[in-house]
Amino acid sequence: MQLNGKIALITGGGSGIGRETAVLFAQHGASLAIADLNPEGGQATVQQIRDAGGTAVFIQTDVSQAAQVETMVNVVVAEYGRLDIAFNNAGIEGAPVRTIDVTEAEFDQIMAVNAKGVWLCLKYEIPQMLQQGGGTIINTASVAGLIGAHSMPAYAASKHAVVGLTRTAAVEYARKGIRVNAVCPAIIRTAMVERAIAHLPQLEQGAMQNNPSRRLGTPQEVAQAVLWLASDASSFTTGATLTVDGGLTAQ
Ligand code: NAD
Repeated sequence: MQLNGKIALITGGGSGIGRETAVLFAQHGASLAIADLNPEGGQATVQQIRDAGGTAVFIQTDVSQAAQVETMVNVVVAEYGRLDIAFNNAGIEGAPVRTIDVTEAEFDQIMAVNAKGVWLCLKYEIPQMLQQGGGTIINTASVAGLIGAHSMPAYAASKHAVVGLTRTAAVEYARKGIRVNAVCPAIIRTAMVERAIAHLPQLEQGAMQNNPSRRLGTPQEVAQAVLWLASDASSFTTGATLTVDGGLTAQ
């Protein structure tokens, strides 16, 4: 699963799953572009990769803004000349509330980052990959893109949208050498989940009880799945939703 010489872009690369995947990609020979809304987190990931002898640049980007996503892809191409791997991973969770209690503003914000953000990434990444003759894209969905998620209605809607975008783009571009897959993690111990646990302390125990593996996942475990999807080892896999969930959705 080597990525020697490959150029990889990771949105939400300044924390959690995105950061661990960036570090793993760099260890496997890729040069990285780290895109994130948060410059401190993004720069810290870049520094971590450079300290280990890898190559990385930071591009401050809000994935919900078309002009910024277009610029992000242009900067990657200006810096490295091509874009081989795109991991569209930036996402937000929102406060835990039931369907009737979500505000319109919160629904719109979650959809703008998680669903529209992934669509905008596809919109600007795919033309570059078509021009260079191929590439591979991994979108971060969630188990909440496959099944309902209690008290996360907008999040679940946005992640189901990511699965729909993934399958559609996979079908559209399979014959052009572009593979598009989604990774679907269950609850993974990251800053996002620490925030959710702070809101709802019983979440942690409940999540562990509900999972056949009786634990939360780690960002490293998601990164390994993304590495496989990014590499030529998964060359006949496109349009897939790869769960990294300890068996949660098998129940
Ligand atoms: P995280 O909060 O640790 O990292 C998310 C990163 O995305 C942060 O660096 C943040 O600054 C960035 N970001 C947020 N909004 C952005 C925007 N508009 N533009 C650019 N960057 C933005 O979270 P994480 O757990 O690593 O989550 C990464 C992805 O994995 C998300 O899409 C999330 O929905 C998904 N996911 C997480 C879990 C989990 O349990 N942690 C489970 C399933 C799916």
